[in-house]
Amino acid sequence: MDSMRIVIGAAMAAMLAFPALAQNPRPDQARYRDIFKELVETDTTLSAGSCTLAAEKMAARLRSAGYPESDLHLIVTPANPKEGSLVAVLPGSDTRAKPVLLLAHLDVVEAKREDWSRDPFTFIEEYGYFYGRGTADDKAQTAIWVDMLMRFKREGFKPRRTLKMALTCGEEGAPFNGARHLMTEHRALIDAEFAINEGGWGRIDEKGRRIYLGINAGEKTPVNYRLEVTNAGGHSMRPVKDNAIYRLSAALLKIGAHDFPVQTTDASLGFFAKMGPELGGEIGAAMTAFAKNPKDMRAAAVIATDPAYNAMLRTTCVVTLLDAGHANNALPQRAGANVNCRIFPGGGIEQVAATLSELIGDADVKVTAAKGRNAGGAAPPLTEAVMKPIVVAAARRWPEVPVVPMLEIGATDASYLTPAGIPTYGFTGIFFEPDGSRLHGLNERVRVDAVYDGRDLITEVVRDYIK
Ligand SMILES: [Zn+2]
Repeated sequence: MDSMRIVIGAAMAAMLAFPALAQNPRPDQARYRDIFKELVETDTTLSAGSCTLAAEKMAARLRSAGYPESDLHLIVTPANPKEGSLVAVLPGSDTRAKPVLLLAHLDVVEAKREDWSRDPFTFIEEYGYFYGRGTADDKAQTAIWVDMLMRFKREGFKPRRTLKMALTCGEEGAPFNGARHLMTEHRALIDAEFAINEGGWGRIDEKGRRIYLGINAGEKTPVNYRLEVTNAGGHSMRPVKDNAIYRLSAALLKIGAHDFPVQTTDASLGFFAKMGPELGGEIGAAMTAFAKNPKDMRAAAVIATDPAYNAMLRTTCVVTLLDAGHANNALPQRAGANVNCRIFPGGGIEQVAATLSELIGDADVKVTAAKGRNAGGAAPPLTEAVMKPIVVAAARRWPEVPVVPMLEIGATDASYLTPAGIPTYGFTGIFFEPDGSRLHGLNERVRVDAVYDGRDLITEVVRDYIK
C-alpha cells in the first residue's frame, strides 16, 4: 500500500492476554515463519536496502524446493541494480487454461531505528504479534506466496492451470516500479487470467472478534495536481486587487466546496449491501438503501458524512500543500498549491484536471497533473470464478464472518495490471486490528494467529483456483 487505508473505528487495540514468548507453531508454520523472518530481516527500503537481495534469497529457497532455473526469473535492470523482481512459474497441465498470478511487493517504507521501540529490521515475535517493518505491508503475504509455491512443488501437486508469482520492488512510491516494468517489458512472463495482490484484509475489533473479511476489486488512483498563479507583483505599499494569493485562494475555496458526483462499482455496492446491516443505525440504513438504489442521493448524503465511506462514493480532491509569495513586503509573484485527488475507478487524470479548471473558472490558474501512477482503469468484476473459492473457504472456518467486497481507497500495483488486462484483486485472508496494523507507521505488526490462519485460508483458495 502506498496510502492509508479505510479505517473503521480508530480505537487503539486493547492489550491482549498473549504470552510474551513465541508459541509453538506447527512444523509447516515454522517453515513459513522462517521465510517471513528472512524477508523482514532483509532491508528492502529504497534508501539503504535491496529488493534484489531479497529476490535472490527467495529464488534460492524455490530452487531448494525443486524449481528448475527455467522457471525462475530474476529481473534486474542495470539502471536499478537494487530494485530487482523475481518471477517464478509452477507449470500447469492444461496449456489452454490461462494462468493465475500471485503478486506481492518486496520493498518497504523507510523505518528509523531511533523512532521504533524495537529494531524495525529484526523479526520479533512477542505477545502474539510479529513485529518489524513490512510484517503487515507486504512481507507476510510475500512469504505466503513463496511458501505456497515451495509446498506445491514438494507435494508434487500438478495443477491444471499454471501458477505464477511475481515479487516486485518500488510499490511504495519509488521512481522505478517493478510491476510496471514487468507489465511493459515482460508481459508474457506474468500474463494471467487474473491476479491476487495485497489489500482486502479482514478486520477484527479490539476484543479480537472477526468483523468481516475484505476482498478488493478496483481502486482509486491518487494524482497530485499543481495549481499555480503568476503575477507581475510589486511593492506591498501599493497593493492592487489582482493578487496571485487571492486568486489561488478563490480557486481553492471552490474546490473545497465541490463534491464530485456519486459513482458505484460492483465492489462498492457489495460493500454497502453487506456493511449496512452490520453497522445498523442511520448510516447502516442509508447503506442498505443506497445498495438497493444507487440513485438515492439522500442515502448517499448520509453515507458521505463519514470521510472513509464518502471516499468510496466519489472522486475526492483536497488541497494539501501551499507555497506563495517571496517577501513580507512584496506583492506575490507566484502562488502555488498541491491538490491531492483520488480518482474513482474508470475516471481519467486529464478529465479531473478539466473538471478542476472548469470549477475554478479562472484561466490564469494553471492546473497540471504530476507524473505518477497510471489511471487505475475500471474496477474488475467480482466474478464467481474469483469469489466462490474465497467464500467457500472462509465459510468453512468462520461461517458468521461476511466476505465483503471493497473499493480500495488507497492504491497498489493493481493500477498497472488491471487497466492493461490482468484484473487484479486484493486478498490476503489476514485480519488486521483497528489500528490497521500500523501500515507505514511505527512498530508495524501483525497478529501471529491472523497470519497463520490467513496462510491456511489463501493456500486453500489458490489451490482451488488452479486445480
Ligand atoms: Zn503494500
